[in-house]
Amino acid sequence: MVDIELVCPACSEELLLPKNEPNAYECPECDAGLVWNGEHLTATKIDRTFLFVNGTEYDTVFDTKNLAIAVDFANEVMDGKASVIGELSKSSSSTVSQKNIAESMEFDRGFQNVAIVIFVISLLGFLSIVGQAGFVGCLCLAPSMLIMAIAFGPQNYKSTDLEFAQNAGGSYGVGEGSGFVPETTIYTRYSWKNDTFTFRAFKQIDNNFVFKLQHSYSSGGDNSSPRQRYHVSSILSGAVQEEYVQSIHTRIHQCEKEDLLEDFNLILGIREKLYESIGMYIPFKIEYDWSVKRASKIMKTINNDAQLAEIWKRLEEGN
Ligand SMILES: [Zn+2]
Repeated sequence: MVDIELVCPACSEELLLPKNEPNAYECPECDAGLVWNGEHLTATKIDRTFLFVNGTEYDTVFDTKNLAIAVDFANEVMDGKASVIGELSKSSSSTVSQKNIAESMEFDRGFQNVAIVIFVISLLGFLSIVGQAGFVGCLCLAPSMLIMAIAFGPQNYKSTDLEFAQNAGGSYGVGEGSGFVPETTIYTRYSWKNDTFTFRAFKQIDNNFVFKLQHSYSSGGDNSSPRQRYHVSSILSGAVQEEYVQSIHTRIHQCEKEDLLEDFNLILGIREKLYESIGMYIPFKIEYDWSVKRASKIMKTINNDAQLAEIWKRLEEGN
């Protein structure tokens, strides 16, 4: 039987667990509950529960040696004492109370009643003109159908949430985030609810970590104006671990030389601020596949200009 070495996430004691023998164990040192899938630790129960979720990709998103740091960080996040840092990091947390849930469900019910009334009125209108107006008659049902869809669509809270709040003593905290753990170069993705903290990543970044910036242009519609932006995703290791982070909005432009220079300076500024937080330059990979022009045309503009080409290189190489 082969044993795998690991560190207890609760007390940092070194442990040996048997390879290919999934089971629940207890740390001999601190009694923390350890869920072992035969290869990796997927959960630990101390006073709170910590989950390390990511199936077959485990090694690309978790550092088994850093799980004790992960648990400390999670506890601070749940206690409202810490959060991820740096540009392109994001986090949120809030408290959900029984009262919030009840009020929200009350509102949803009220809204549903109003929606039914509107629908019935427009249905009567529709029936009275059907035959005369034909297709145009159908159109008058569209707004009320939309209101019905909103009223009966996914709601904020379900009755199970109310039950959960009751069991948690009236209220519970929730939160999520992705970004860098303070005073480290560890990247994490997580969400939590009450006393269960779920990590989707907790990894010391290496050369494989990049931010991908996908340029896009949307022409807008009747109710929205055109938008141009870079969709930023973090990539831990290979495309499988890609996750959307946020968008960097820019002026609407045609990606001419001066426009690109303006965009690049904006991106360089963000990268510089991130450097100030974590002490390391992260490679930024920009893609123009969904942009205003063909990507090859934009790349030609960049490659034909010494200044743009130089910034592009710095961004790609992370230096
Ligand atoms: Zn322990």
